[in-house]
Amino acid sequence: AKKFVFAKRFHGLPQLDNFSLEKEELPELKSGDILCEALYLSVDPYMRPYSLSWPLGTTMKGGQVSKVIESKNAKFPVGSLLVGYFGWRTHTVVNPDVRSKDFMEQITVLPNLGTLCPSVGLGAVGMPGNSAYFGFLEICKPKHGDVVVVSGAAGAVGSLVGQIAKIKGCHVIGFAGSDEKVKWLTDELGFDKAYNYKTCDWKSSLKEGAPNGVDCYFDNVGGQLSVAVRSHMNHFGRISVCGAISLYNDTVPTIVPCVEPAMVFKQLRMEGFLVHRWTHRFPEGMNQMSTWIQEGKIKVKETNTNGFENMPAAFINMLKGGNIGKAIVKA
Ligand code: NDP
Repeated sequence: AKKFVFAKRFHGLPQLDNFSLEKEELPELKSGDILCEALYLSVDPYMRPYSLSWPLGTTMKGGQVSKVIESKNAKFPVGSLLVGYFGWRTHTVVNPDVRSKDFMEQITVLPNLGTLCPSVGLGAVGMPGNSAYFGFLEICKPKHGDVVVVSGAAGAVGSLVGQIAKIKGCHVIGFAGSDEKVKWLTDELGFDKAYNYKTCDWKSSLKEGAPNGVDCYFDNVGGQLSVAVRSHMNHFGRISVCGAISLYNDTVPTIVPCVEPAMVFKQLRMEGFLVHRWTHRFPEGMNQMSTWIQEGKIKVKETNTNGFENMPAAFINMLKGGNIGKAIVKA
């Protein structure tokens, strides 16, 4: 078996030498154990800020869709597909009935996905899907006709938020980092407007896309773009703070922008969240996302990297914006 270990602290954007590929001896299976083989592994932005608390030598953390290839547990026969937080590992021996502190999450058996690829268990029908579904609906509380802005709009979470907002009858504006992404958002996902935040003038784009102001902002990126969007909000606007990826690689702490007077005078509500807040409702989120996809109301896209040994490259590429939709590694 192989695994990736956190070998050197990140400084700025992660580099290949922050990770080391190691061999791992697997223990014999005891009663209740299963042996899982990774089919698809996830690279996610949270791995960058969370790494601040990981000791060097930690196996890189993260989720994977894996297949049971040996089993001493009747509930998980050979061939079962599951999502587990086993880390960047090719193979894992685990007893699913015993919760280990090494595993961030309980093991989830994938729901019936019809013809969908099981890798959606790491994206739209998994953690990012639940982040979009609960983080947007519960915090922004969108109403029909609301104007919604999404940053990081062409990524795993953002692309779903925009489509959920369209299902709810909102006018949706996305900001993403390339012309190709912008075209995908408007031509295929049904966003009303989308802008390349790297080349557009933010203020005039907001004025053009949302001439009557913004009611809901789903923030994946933080930083100055978010200051610009907040300054364009309507009275009683709602801001769901999902992430701040534009700041994750900063080598000096960013000066926290002061609270704008608009927060007061426009009576805005801004709330951060961690998706784990809704763990008890995950089946609802996953079933709804899976239904919407199968009904054709939500489109999903993945950017795939082949080969377990390319996990670090896929992670770095995702942080640099190389992905459209969910970044996945095929083992
Ligand atoms: P994405 O699929 O969106 O991938 C990351 C994207 O971030 C890149 O493709 C890139 O797209 C964009 N990006 C990178 N650098 C910058 C920058 N400097 N400014 C603006 N955008 C940048 O990842 P996810 O959908 O998985 O995650 C999106 C956000 O949501 C992250 O901030 C993540 O931490 C957060 N998150 C939070 C959760 C929670 O529970 N609160 C759960 C899941 C995710 P581009 O080309 O557009 O720049």
